[in-house]
Amino acid sequence: MAFDCYCAICGVGFSGMRIGTPSDATPERRRQYVERISRPVNGTTTTDTAPQDKEEPIRSYDPNLVTQDNVAWTSQVHCLGMQDDAKGTSRAFLSGPGYYADAGELAVKVGQAARRTYFNCYGFGTNDVPGPVMPFHWCCFEILLRTLTGTTDPKNVNLEALYEAMSSHCNWSGSALRLSYGEDVIRAQGQYWQSLPGAEYTVRNPSTANITETLKTTLQTNAKLRTSPTDITLDTREPRNPFSALPTELVHQICSLLPGESLKSLTQASLYINLITRDDYFWKRFIASDMPWLEEGEAEVLRKRVVDDESSAESASASESPINYQRVYQWLDRVTKPAFGMDDELFMAVANRRRIWGVCEVLAGAYRAQCA
Ligand SMILES: [Zn+2]
Repeated sequence: MAFDCYCAICGVGFSGMRIGTPSDATPERRRQYVERISRPVNGTTTTDTAPQDKEEPIRSYDPNLVTQDNVAWTSQVHCLGMQDDAKGTSRAFLSGPGYYADAGELAVKVGQAARRTYFNCYGFGTNDVPGPVMPFHWCCFEILLRTLTGTTDPKNVNLEALYEAMSSHCNWSGSALRLSYGEDVIRAQGQYWQSLPGAEYTVRNPSTANITETLKTTLQTNAKLRTSPTDITLDTREPRNPFSALPTELVHQICSLLPGESLKSLTQASLYINLITRDDYFWKRFIASDMPWLEEGEAEVLRKRVVDDESSAESASASESPINYQRVYQWLDRVTKPAFGMDDELFMAVANRRRIWGVCEVLAGAYRAQCA
């Protein structure tokens, strides 16, 4: 078994976050390292340093991108376990806060107990708690609760079913669940957590970022989001395809079920789909279904016409083009995509929230199967 265990939900560690100092000599080497890994070599990326780099590999985050304050959230741990009571009945329990001790062991408070209890993460349990316990950061658990119940109140979730759902992804000897935490996290899950430069976004607190104000400002000021769709010269082409036999509303519904990348391909391949997905109503609904990880306030800015209304009331430029929500979707999808080497302070934490939401959706599928 590895010596470190990782959050069952986000895959990130609870200790060992190393941040470079602004004065050390490595920022330039770090930049070169990030650039080298970002650039594919023969179609694949390399995780090792290049042969000519004889110096020690860099194992610390860029101090310009993360501070100790930014990573403080990673050190507090909670867990979900299954306890046998006096009658031999199993009951799931949610622990209070604690810390990661070492070698797969957690020290957390349970119930009203004054002292902390020690549990083995993922491994074989004890007499009272016969199975593995699932360790996590509370903010990750809140994201999971949102995907399961639409709220962040643990009272709304069936803990037994959730425990079973998480256990179904447990491999009993691992240091995290068997889930797609993303390449940048999997690579850092060594025997100990590795603070790999370029993956700073994975340790930014997913619950502190709020881009509501940025969204408002961007919608009001970014002229690129107000450009109309490219005109298509029909010539001899006829926008007909099997979809055109269906009512538009139905085709909209089918399109809204597609992942963003697939819809992009479909609008490029089909002139008919391209034409009927040009209205803002469709794109606003698509943003809502494709970006469920947006916080309520953020989603509201995109859903309502607040920005349009404000700008038409306040600004005199009535000739300004309206917001094109397809462009808004494309922009937001790009800036919030979890990506190695990302360095936009504001969007790093949102990208992390989006990454974790993806993991939670997999757990939500297993949870619903358990509840059924
Ligand atoms: Zn986590």
